[in-house]
Amino acid sequence: MAGELDGKVAIVTGGAGGIGKATVDLFVAEGARVVVADVDMDAGESLCAKLGSAAVFRRVDVAQKGDVEALVDVAVQRFGRLDVMFNNAGIACGAFPDFLDDTLEDFGKVVGVNLFGPMVGTQAAARAMKQQGRGGAILNNASIAGVLAGQAMMTYRASKAGLIHFSKSAAIDLARHGIRVNCLVPGHIRTPLSSFEEGSGADNLAQLSQEIDAIYLSNQPLKRRGSPEDVAQAALFLASDRAAQITGIALPVEGGVTTGDPVNH
Ligand code: NAD
Repeated sequence: MAGELDGKVAIVTGGAGGIGKATVDLFVAEGARVVVADVDMDAGESLCAKLGSAAVFRRVDVAQKGDVEALVDVAVQRFGRLDVMFNNAGIACGAFPDFLDDTLEDFGKVVGVNLFGPMVGTQAAARAMKQQGRGGAILNNASIAGVLAGQAMMTYRASKAGLIHFSKSAAIDLARHGIRVNCLVPGHIRTPLSSFEEGSGADNLAQLSQEIDAIYLSNQPLKRRGSPEDVAQAALFLASDRAAQITGIALPVEGGVTTGDPVNH
């Protein structure tokens, strides 16, 4: 049976873990050749070793413009083209950092990876896609934190809100080249990022994670915890030609949590 991405070449940033890894697995299963980009060399190389000739790993820090631009060259040199760019890599800023303690350096770190990274990734991919003249699909991984305001993780929320607005604007601009730009808006997905493994300052992480899960599910209509594979399936759809008429959207993958009044869920 034909795969959804037969003959296509994709880049997945943050592809060595979590949502990115689930997407790499699915894209390859659906016929794509994939450049896996990540700061984690061990995880990236071991994933690509399992996937064989369909995947190649490149160590990339998406906050570094030169790394991202070279990444696009890898796709074109290794696989001859670029059809799909999934700007997925992102970092949190711990569970409950006190905003009043944040420094300009803290802001810059999160915004550098979560907003500037996808902006540079969109620009570099779109330049290659324009030159190819066959259009393309760019996906940016935002978050419900970019839609819903909240006291915790304010810099993360700001970076993701900026990413949604940037993606919509890029969709309008790049449409003249046949390039579609869409956002994914995942809800709470159990991965290392949402388990606050880094920088939380809390010593009761397991309990904290469980409490957050419970609050989240009680406000979510489907009452179902989302998985990295759920987000990967949405990425596959937006990357595929089935979404040929879809650009400029921010697709929620969150069990309905942003849909209505939490009091009536
Ligand atoms: P994760 O921590 O499980 O995986 C992120 C991957 O990105 C890791 O492999 C990591 O090594 C890599 N990475 C981190 N910084 C990088 C950098 N500077 N350059 C290249 N690679 C880098 O996280 P995840 O949960 O899979 O998150 C993926 C994306 O989904 C992020 O943009 C995140 O904000 C977004 N998201 C996650 C959730 C969630 O609940 N997990 C919810 C909404 C949005």
